[in-house]
Amino acid sequence: MISFQPGPSQVYPQLNTYFQDAFNDGILSINHRSDRFMEIMKQTVALLHQQLNIPEDYQIYFVSSATEAWEIIAQSLTHLKSSHIYNGDFGEKWADYTSQIVNNVCRMEMDLDEDYRDSMNSNSCLETSIICLTHNETSNGTQMPVQRKNHSQNHQTLIAVDATSSMAGVELEWLEADVWFASVQKCFGLPAGMALMVCSPNALKQANKIKDYKYYNSLLRIHENAEKFQTHCTPNVLNIYLLYRLLADLSTIEKISEATKTRAKAWYNFFEENGYELLVKNHDLRSETVIAVRDSPENIVALKNKALTKGFEIGNGYGNWKYDTFRIANFPAINDKQISDLKVVLKEILPQQKKQ
Ligand SMILES: *Cc1c(COP(=O)(O)O)cnc(C)c1O
Repeated sequence: MISFQPGPSQVYPQLNTYFQDAFNDGILSINHRSDRFMEIMKQTVALLHQQLNIPEDYQIYFVSSATEAWEIIAQSLTHLKSSHIYNGDFGEKWADYTSQIVNNVCRMEMDLDEDYRDSMNSNSCLETSIICLTHNETSNGTQMPVQRKNHSQNHQTLIAVDATSSMAGVELEWLEADVWFASVQKCFGLPAGMALMVCSPNALKQANKIKDYKYYNSLLRIHENAEKFQTHCTPNVLNIYLLYRLLADLSTIEKISEATKTRAKAWYNFFEENGYELLVKNHDLRSETVIAVRDSPENIVALKNKALTKGFEIGNGYGNWKYDTFRIANFPAINDKQISDLKVVLKEILPQQKKQ
């Protein structure tokens, strides 16, 4: 079965070998304060900088999920007010979780085809300690450009970006934000149970001002451990090892990103040519990694069933769009043959729009 679900998603086929090696080499039992672990963590961090083009002075931390990153940001990097710009379920959930921790949460909710950059003038939400953006809204297949200059002129304001379904699939403009994070069960093509946080020197400065040490996962505690190539609690050693092996095998993000963009264009053309209705109408906001397609609920059920008989799992709709959309993950772990085989199935069932 090949999964086109945008998370948990299809893993890289190379993992089969890495799992065996992890077992045979005793990785599954190593102590997370041992030299052996620290060496793996050190190499993994170096490979992440190298393969994903992460600036040298940005720190990389291992945490357990994107949801945990939402909380860490609210606890350790937010002073009094947190502002959230979003148009879908994940961005909204982030604001909801934050409002349990931070009293003043300001929400700028955008329409599906609305570019937030057109609404950035004199919005009181922008006078804030941190602006939270979802780079790739997995629930509806929109992608937001991240640009620092469009935000508050206040240099103190941090920008935090949820890039869960785009990091490792497309190139990111690291310098345009202070905190980036992603869990690994999407574009990284790894099993669930781990996430990365990437933090700028300014983010760390802010953490040092706030000095939050109240929680096991307070950012400064995570940072102090990371300086020794250790973690604040026993980490997902297996996933760190798999990531290390994968990064050593994969091409650099420039190449992966180029392929993702080419495939995304081909997917959008394919759906338009075959009479499907794309959920996102504004071309500038269409995601390159998660493609959302509208259809009647009956058609979607028929499509999913047909695809299953051929060994493909199509992504479900999510949240507000649960029943009248399906989603296709355009993640790098999926190969060209699998894509062309799924397109054959998609051509066999006439979309609702074409039937009318
Ligand atoms: C999947 C997803 C999450 C949640 O990830 P977890 O690892 O389950 O915490 C958060 N944000 C976005 C954009 C996602 O796609």
